[in-house]
Amino acid sequence: MAHRPLRLILDGDALVANWRWLRERGGSAACGAAVKADGYGLGAHEVVKRLAAAGCRDFFVSTYAEAEALGAWDESLALSVLHGPGPDDTQAASASPARPVLNSPQQVARWREAGQGRPCDVMVDTGMNRLGLTPEESRSGLLDGLPIETLMSHLACADALDGTAPFAANTRQFSDFRTLTAQVPAQRYSLANSAGILLGTDYCFDLTRPGLGIYGGWARREAAEGIRAVASVEAQIVQLRIVREGQRIGYGGTFRADHATRIAVLNLGYADGYLRAVAEHGSAELGDVILPILGLVSMDLTAVAAPESLSVTEGDWIRLRFDLPMLAETLSQYELLTTLGSRFERVWA
Ligand SMILES: *Cc1c(COP(=O)(O)O)cnc(C)c1O
Repeated sequence: MAHRPLRLILDGDALVANWRWLRERGGSAACGAAVKADGYGLGAHEVVKRLAAAGCRDFFVSTYAEAEALGAWDESLALSVLHGPGPDDTQAASASPARPVLNSPQQVARWREAGQGRPCDVMVDTGMNRLGLTPEESRSGLLDGLPIETLMSHLACADALDGTAPFAANTRQFSDFRTLTAQVPAQRYSLANSAGILLGTDYCFDLTRPGLGIYGGWARREAAEGIRAVASVEAQIVQLRIVREGQRIGYGGTFRADHATRIAVLNLGYADGYLRAVAEHGSAELGDVILPILGLVSMDLTAVAAPESLSVTEGDWIRLRFDLPMLAETLSQYELLTTLGSRFERVWA
């Protein structure tokens, strides 16, 4: 396989430490892990392997295609498919070791046919209006006799990095969900994602489902106490060049050199998920030296300052700052992680 000039350096210790910290914050609740979108862009297969070794037993993906992409599944672990069995999933759902999360009366009917009595999970919508049965549907007898492993709901407004999310929405969803736990029998109940865990152990019920926090994102300010960065971006230098005084760099010539400047052109662009909005707030670094980004990011290339005093050459690796909580002012941390493209080699360090 050809060499990749782009790599994500992934801190496996930080990944596991983040999961353990979230598990502790959840009190007596078991702590699962959302590994949808290929483990938030970091590589789901390795994430599952590392978290399973740390004691995680419950994993969540979005679709049967994502479940299948994980390959042979260790049957001592649980895998739930959040979007449930759609009209085109009947075969996959019967063959897959994964458990569906049933979201609609249609999916309930489909699983009664295809599930051969195997357990399922059920999502109830308590106010997000995204996926799930209405509370009325879930109490109507629709679910009678189904072997429900986990009854879950999802919080719409628990994320509050800027401190503005409406708190009343959380307490309303919490109390509606607690009411349901007395009305719909299931082995376990689950409400909290990363942000929900940080609202307190009341929100954690029997099982939590963090994603973002495991990968180093901050769902709320409280995350600063325990969540460490996991991913950093590195790209190789394709070319070093001198830009003469008065010349401009990149599309639109948005950067003009006011003196002769050496630059390094990096093998990284917006097609990799290194978006222009990210670069505006980002910079590169080599050791302790900060290298400002110069001009607009191209599809596959980005220019950074490379002062003559710096000892660098073609092929050297340059690290791009990818500070999720800081960059979250431009894009959500979820967008930042999951848009990192497929051209990176993922290197667990
Ligand atoms: C994505 C997802 C999670 C994880 O959410 P984070 O905000 O990343 O912690 C949990 N539950 C459901 C239903 C999800 O879709």
